[in-house]
Amino acid sequence: MSIFTKIITGEIPSYKVAENADFIAFLDINPNAKGHTLVVPKKEENKIFDLSKEAYTSLMDFSYQVAKAIEKTLPCKRVGMSVIGLEVPHVHVHLIPLNAMEDIQFMKKVTLSKDEFVDLAEEISKNF
Ligand code: 5GP
Repeated sequence: MSIFTKIITGEIPSYKVAENADFIAFLDINPNAKGHTLVVPKKEENKIFDLSKEAYTSLMDFSYQVAKAIEKTLPCKRVGMSVIGLEVPHVHVHLIPLNAMEDIQFMKKVTLSKDEFVDLAEEISKNF
């Protein structure tokens, strides 16, 4: 079972920003930038291009809605999207508020307090 499935089942906590029957979006715990969000299908699948075309399209549609909420909440030049990384074998779309190219490079990280994570998740979910 992936760490994201444990988040989906509530076994481990997350700062949730949006959810529907098939997808969940929560703040990345080690964010590149404030507002870095992961969008994850509830059905555990390793690789994005192993999703059915329908599931892939629905994931993109849900990610679009989450990106709009992030953009409303956090001033940034644009919201970047990336499907990258080998750490967690469960499909996840990174949505990252971008102000500089480093924000999408997965090197520079920002530290947020628990209260900041809680407030941010609430603000984004209000705009969803
Ligand atoms: P990737 O597979 O894209 O390389 O990395 C997985 C991403 O998930 C990383 O950005 C990492 O910070 C994030 N991540 C890993 N474990 C957790 C977790 O337990 N909770 C949350 N919210 N994010 C996580």
